[in-house]
Amino acid sequence: TVPVITIDGPTASGKGTVAHRVAKHLGFHYLDSGALYRLTALSASRHGVALDDEEALANLARVLPCQFVKGHVLLDGEDVTDAVRAEAIGVAASKIAVLPKVRQALFDLQVAFRYAPGLVADGRDMGTVIFPDATQKVYLTASVDARASRRYKQLKEKGFPATMEDLVKDLAERDARDTARSAAPLKPAPGAYILDTSEMTVDQAVQTVLDLYVN
Ligand code: C5P
Repeated sequence: TVPVITIDGPTASGKGTVAHRVAKHLGFHYLDSGALYRLTALSASRHGVALDDEEALANLARVLPCQFVKGHVLLDGEDVTDAVRAEAIGVAASKIAVLPKVRQALFDLQVAFRYAPGLVADGRDMGTVIFPDATQKVYLTASVDARASRRYKQLKEKGFPATMEDLVKDLAERDARDTARSAAPLKPAPGAYILDTSEMTVDQAVQTVLDLYVN
């Protein structure tokens, strides 16, 4: 079977960066599952679909016209790489992610990313729901303060407005939504290695995951 490394964890824990680098190092494919929830949220806002209209959102998600090309995210052929990273879209994504029909609609799309030579998948439920038989499961986390200041840097670099105060509040709210929801709540998968990166560099986190996978 095709190997899969799952990297789950809370918002802004650094799992995206770490997962991407691990995939690159191993020559594996990379699945940014959060991007699928973000794309569904963006698509909803463009089609005027309300964030609590479960049926309509699931219909959008099921036929999401998205492509991932060389680090760019396309929706309907349009480059939305920066648009999907906007904080408001992240918040909208976490609201629609509580809806079981939306999660179900994105299931097949995610499983299809697993093909030779291997996959690194990052998200909230990669190890618990989408790839329960993963070769290596990691739960990547960091303190709220560490995560808020990383997210602050990222947003500033992209030219998005941000304050630390708002980010801490947003993160705490998003953590609460992700862990409290009944559909695929955020929690370490059985057998997952818990990696707290609060005091770690990206290089150290990447190396730790690679060592876990090889050994
Ligand atoms: O990881 P990212 O911040 O891009 O994900 C956006 C939102 O999508 C998260 O806040 C979470 O609520 C949701 N999500 C999810 N399951 C995943 C990935 C993301 O519920 N596998």
